[in-house]
Amino acid sequence: MMKMSRRTFLKGSAGTLAAIALSAGTGASINAFEASAASEEAVWKNSFCAFCHFPGCATKVKVVNGVAVEIMGDKNSETNQGRLCLRGMSTLNNLYNPYRVKAPMKRTNPEKGLDIDPGWVEITWEEALDIVASKLKAAMDEDPRSILISGGFGVEESFRVAPAQAVFGTPNYLTSPGTLCPEHFNQLHLNGQMLDRIDLEYVDYIVEIGRTMGSDWCATSANHSSHYADALERGAKFVTVNPYCTHSAQRGEWVPIMPGTDTALGFALLYTIIHEIGVYDEHFMKVRSNAPYLVDPSFEMIKGRKVYKQGYIRNADGKPLVWDEVLNQAVPFDSSMGESYALLGTYEVEGKTVTTSFQVLKDYVKEYTPEWAEPITTIPAAKVREIARDLVSHARIGSTINIEGFEFPYRPSCIFMGRGMASHMLGVEAAKALGTVNLLLGNLDVPGGIQGTANANWYTLNADQDGILEARGIMANQVTGEDIVYPPATVDMGGFYPMRHAAIPLAWKTINDPEKYHIGYPINVMMVHGADPLGSGATCQEVIEALKKIPFTFSVAYHYDLPTQFADILLAESSLLEKDALYRVFRNEKEVTHQTRGLMGTMVRRPAVDNVYNTRIPEDILADLAERLGRLPAFSGACNDNGPRSLFSAVSPTMAAGLTPEYALEPNKKYTWREFIDRKISSDFGPEAIAEFDKCAFKPFRLPLKETYNYYYVPDNAIRLPVYYERMVRNGEKMMQQLKEFNVTVPNQDMDHIYSHYSGMPVWYDNAGFETTEEYPFKAVNWKVHYGVNNTGGLYENAYVQEIIDHSNSYVKCVWVPASAAADLGIQEGDTVVVESRFGKTQGKAHLSQFMHPKCIGIPGNFGRRTGYMNPLKNTGVHFNSLLTVDESTLNPISLSLESSPQIKVYKI
Ligand code: SF4
Repeated sequence: MMKMSRRTFLKGSAGTLAAIALSAGTGASINAFEASAASEEAVWKNSFCAFCHFPGCATKVKVVNGVAVEIMGDKNSETNQGRLCLRGMSTLNNLYNPYRVKAPMKRTNPEKGLDIDPGWVEITWEEALDIVASKLKAAMDEDPRSILISGGFGVEESFRVAPAQAVFGTPNYLTSPGTLCPEHFNQLHLNGQMLDRIDLEYVDYIVEIGRTMGSDWCATSANHSSHYADALERGAKFVTVNPYCTHSAQRGEWVPIMPGTDTALGFALLYTIIHEIGVYDEHFMKVRSNAPYLVDPSFEMIKGRKVYKQGYIRNADGKPLVWDEVLNQAVPFDSSMGESYALLGTYEVEGKTVTTSFQVLKDYVKEYTPEWAEPITTIPAAKVREIARDLVSHARIGSTINIEGFEFPYRPSCIFMGRGMASHMLGVEAAKALGTVNLLLGNLDVPGGIQGTANANWYTLNADQDGILEARGIMANQVTGEDIVYPPATVDMGGFYPMRHAAIPLAWKTINDPEKYHIGYPINVMMVHGADPLGSGATCQEVIEALKKIPFTFSVAYHYDLPTQFADILLAESSLLEKDALYRVFRNEKEVTHQTRGLMGTMVRRPAVDNVYNTRIPEDILADLAERLGRLPAFSGACNDNGPRSLFSAVSPTMAAGLTPEYALEPNKKYTWREFIDRKISSDFGPEAIAEFDKCAFKPFRLPLKETYNYYYVPDNAIRLPVYYERMVRNGEKMMQQLKEFNVTVPNQDMDHIYSHYSGMPVWYDNAGFETTEEYPFKAVNWKVHYGVNNTGGLYENAYVQEIIDHSNSYVKCVWVPASAAADLGIQEGDTVVVESRFGKTQGKAHLSQFMHPKCIGIPGNFGRRTGYMNPLKNTGVHFNSLLTVDESTLNPISLSLESSPQIKVYKI
């Protein structure tokens, strides 16, 4: 790998984010800030940005005569040290965007469609809220379940859904982006929480699979590029396994892979490490994994797939047994410190022949050599062996590091996985296989390795009755599994998929055909806030039919987007700089150095400017609706609550959620959002802190460094991680039993197919959608671009952002055709091409690139969401999701993720 200086890194960056992020904190810009503040009669207001997953870059907003004219990072803030990414810098255009919804609006044209003029007319807030409340009231009287909330990333992260559910009394809530980000399975099982991060302070060798670092990562923060540059400068090596040569691949090593074949790579790495290298962290495997647990090694063949359906061998008390090599007998897993437990071997226990779980793994992967994987993944066998050797040698197995007096295992080598690995038919299998490679390296929750983003002081990490890590908080069902709910409680059919990530796409099917899906009620009212099921989902026509079928839809909307085309009433939402806000800041980014590791705090925003238009804050809108519906107690209850459904659970989970009794909201009184926030400040810090937050937006605190590694809380023998996924076996059995009791099957599914995925080992089979065909000789590939992380705040329509794209990286609006295939396809740079899958097509200008796998066509970002009634900037670029489907046979049967790399053909027109 070329040694990269910080200067070279910035100069060579294809994107502008890193340059902006790093330069924003320089003395030059601060001097400019101070000079301009002195020379003009300007007011500089404290604010903060929330246009990504890590809200909390503190800003200074220059306001002249009530007009915000400049924004920059606050150099005094620990969260971003003056840095601001281009999304944060674009906030001014969010405020003054001419395509905003500027007042409450009513549709006059009853006909709905993407290209039909809704005939909006402006109405008063009173009229708008009265109409919405009357529709909600009628629906609540008939059946509260007939109200559907579709929430997503609006002006800023819109997680205020819990109180809306409390007010309307409905269980039906859909998130916008979940169908394409099922990467959390791995983190939940191995870190006990939904996100992981890499330790850029210490790591030496990283294999990124299906993700990228620095600027292109979906939740990239203003700090990420800086942290990444520091790691490069320090000499850390990055290997990127991806069909597309990402920014970080351009600075490390690129290993092209056929999309959807990551499981095969995982198997080949496991084979190489276990059978050829023979070096792995035996201590970790004995004391921090279930590798020694005894199981019956037999398997079943289901649909031609090898499926492990055996549970642990247990004693009379139900405790899993291990084999103690000193005592030469089976003992309960928690009998000793574990050093004497056998990792490999076959034993006789009560007349049964059993093996360790690790022996099952070793035998299972024996046939999956690098040579077996090569034609599937297209990665040469020699390269797999090289990566396996590098992973092991850089892991420094056996070494330790002392941090603040605490001795940690030191494992600076890891595989870092992302959505590109997970959004496939075998995505969960890939997570299991590649996650097990990390277990072999012993790198979980220790310096240099893979850690949970939340520390144990937030989510208490516990073991279940079998000693295995239990997931907590959001998405824990992906580990624990849920009971089948029949008839389904929600229209997304989540109750039929016990370990799902998100069942969103099925909602549109059930609305269109409720009987087939056992849904006994219609959806009468839908509220949209920040979601875009049309642009972010798949099978657009199904969504359109469902939206047309719902009798009444209202949208809390910042700008005219696709869902507003189907709304009856628009409730105009204020822009970020017009809003009060309070956020927990949890600056444990996904790519972290000591600079921000352990940084937490509370951040409060006061409006920098008055409302430009006749808009309102969503929380105030909800309080108004609650009042009209006679549901203020439900709303106040959600605010006062300290449970997971509380208003503040998303705001301040690191501190006491909810409000202390002294500051609790009275049940029947309406409060403004500003009053909520001041009560929350008082509740957490005392009333005198209100004035403090007026002066300084951020109140930080830092965890001691050693407490930011979860190994500190859960050392050897405290919690074990799965090599053998016995929980999946149990969940599969329970699912089948419960379906039998209800005398139903999962609609539109092959039950053997679903059942086969509930296996103790990662399942493998051919024809899982990763192959190309004669008719569809390519795979489509999509990657996120930092210009529009989750499209928070309408970034794809932000004129500042678009201008940066057009001047620096306009290729992101093109169809990327591998240069090696262009001649055969008769395609030249700039030709208009059609990309067509079995399920839909899209078109755009061709860009010939050597940065694509030769069998893949790339379409970046989420551009091109077309309708004539939106900001025309939105119409530029290519819409990738038009190629996707939510046909159940193509979904991952565990996570319900869409297949994100369909087979396609491409041709010039
Ligand atoms: S989008 Fe995120 S990283 Fe960028 S400035 Fe805003 S808060 Fe910071």
